[in-house]
Amino acid sequence: MARIGFVGLGNMGAPMARNLVKAGHDVAVFDLSSEAMTRVEGARPAASGAEAARGAEFVITMLPAGKHVREAWLGTGGLAAAMGPDAVLLDCSTIDVATAREVAAALPRPFLDAPVSGGVMGAEAGTLTFMVGGPAEAFARAEPILRTMGRTIVHCGEAGAGQAAKACNNMLLAISMIGTCEAFVLAEKLGLSHQALFEVASKSSGQCWSLNTYCPVPGPVPASPANRDYRPGFAAALMVKDLGLAQQAAGETGAATPMGARALELYRRFVEEGGAETDFSGIIRMLRGGRESA
Ligand code: NAD
Repeated sequence: MARIGFVGLGNMGAPMARNLVKAGHDVAVFDLSSEAMTRVEGARPAASGAEAARGAEFVITMLPAGKHVREAWLGTGGLAAAMGPDAVLLDCSTIDVATAREVAAALPRPFLDAPVSGGVMGAEAGTLTFMVGGPAEAFARAEPILRTMGRTIVHCGEAGAGQAAKACNNMLLAISMIGTCEAFVLAEKLGLSHQALFEVASKSSGQCWSLNTYCPVPGPVPASPANRDYRPGFAAALMVKDLGLAQQAAGETGAATPMGARALELYRRFVEEGGAETDFSGIIRMLRGGRESA
């Protein structure tokens, strides 16, 4: 059993903290929202983030964005002031690589950036994927804790490498989803059935996760969000956030990512036109709008 401080009990943080409690850990929790504080039965409510972190062996944050993470760890009265001498610090939020590196460098204890994929369902089921950046020794200590919340845990390298892996993966996902949608839109115009395209492409060189597992038209893959009116899944608004982080990283490093930039433009438009809460595969509806609208 470990003593754990957990800060940020939103859609993702609350079920993750519940899995830590279920595994028998002693968990102290804090969220700015008093309603969120009621979401983790069996945890000890703390009056502040610093109180949740006091004496903890592991301190975990799950917050909206980089500015919240910087403030929570480095701000006045923040977590850094309160943690124990041997604590391992983890941030599981999805934030920009530069802030993850800045926070890691500023803290006196080992800090791991450990963003996740798998969404709320993965957080509830304890099947998240963790992409982790930071010192190998801290990773080795944290891995059993991460394993109570996730199934696939990958040490990606030094500070920021977890966020880098998340940004690269999700940029690739957005591009492959748009490409998959475009193939179905063209097939429709050519009178080729969804099923026929799926049967050929899912076994040929066009195969990818967006097609084979998360098919953006109803029928070929019964479990995909297309079969339930594009209820998420992974909401388009979150894809816009992740693509923005990838473009920020590309700008900071001088990487050429023209398809990533275009994917961000298209997903932004989809969100502005009302698609924010729609699954990201629902962008096929906008792409059907025709040449000039894309
Ligand atoms: P959320 O908005 O539901 O929850 C964030 C929580 O943090 C809120 O309860 C808020 O009150 C709390 N908070 C903000 N600042 C705080 C502070 N200083 N101290 C204490 N509490 C504070 O967000 P979420 O959906 O749980 O996502 C959390 C992170 O996980 C984000 O970075 C998101 O990009 C990432 N993520 C989300 C999903 C998803 O499907 N929701 C999937 C993968 C990754």
